[in-house]
Amino acid sequence: MTDTIALLGHPVAHSISPRFQQAALDALGVDARYEAWDVLPADLPAAMERLRGGSMRGANVTIPHKESVVRMADRPDALVERMGAANTIVQRDGLLHATNTDVIGILRSLEAAGVDVSGKQVVLLGAGGAARAVVVAMRRAGAVHLVIANRTPERAQAIARLGGDELATSIVPLDADTPALLDAVRRAALVINATSLGMSHGPDEHATPLPASAFQPGQAAFDLVYVPERTPFLTAAEAAGAQAVGGLAMLVHQGAESFRLWTGLEPQVDVMFAAARQALREREQA
Ligand code: NAP
Repeated sequence: MTDTIALLGHPVAHSISPRFQQAALDALGVDARYEAWDVLPADLPAAMERLRGGSMRGANVTIPHKESVVRMADRPDALVERMGAANTIVQRDGLLHATNTDVIGILRSLEAAGVDVSGKQVVLLGAGGAARAVVVAMRRAGAVHLVIANRTPERAQAIARLGGDELATSIVPLDADTPALLDAVRRAALVINATSLGMSHGPDEHATPLPASAFQPGQAAFDLVYVPERTPFLTAAEAAGAQAVGGLAMLVHQGAESFRLWTGLEPQVDVMFAAARQALREREQA
């Protein structure tokens, strides 16, 4: 019988995960379908029950369910408990194990780009769901200081705790005219955009949280936004001679880690990238 892997979210029609996950399953001849399930919050408990079925390998979880699934899973792992958010469910013997592969997605993206933040300062712009994974990833990568800038400072305070004892954190206003932010950026090896500024079809699609004048050569800029692949933030960083790392890498690498958990197999990451880019091109042309 063909197995099923689901994507639980709302809305999900725009997601490219079904395209690159199916391509990876097909490339290895795994008899499984990756399906997008559009699940309203009220229907999430029923969708989680469906995941217990014998032919279900598990699921990805996206907005707005990443937090709610934590208390519905049978076995949330330590990372999920700490972050309060899961993006992957693995079904084993009727039990739903929850984990979060966003952290690994971030670490693999930086590793592949040759960006090493060990012993360095990092600036994080944004403090939403994706930013939480960034804080944990920077702690794991050995950064010494993380400066967080967010429009709503209370949200920055809330995620700073994820740095634990190992990662010192401080909070500055998200305002490109503020000396505190510009000074933090000047001292940083890496600046990460985890706001939704610059996202295609969003309300601020042409905006960048920082202008080119804030960056310098030798720095790296990582944008979690992946549509378009070259965002205004990355364009600004590159104009100043900084290295640009796009968010598609995070999306594909978090997906590759989920794939390993569902199948026990090593996915062909290049196949996933190619399918993801093809899906984005088709979406732009539609
Ligand atoms: P979220 O929880 O809604 O957080 C959005 C963040 O953007 C918050 O920090 C918010 O600030 C900030 N923001 C929104 N509009 C702003 C504006 N006009 N000015 C300043 N700040 C603004 O979203 P999320 O899930 O963290 O996602 C953030 C981005 O990361 C999205 O573009 C998403 O596509 C991308 N992402 C990428 C991946 C990947 O795999 N590459 C994974 C997850 C997310 P406030 O707190 O003040 O509202």
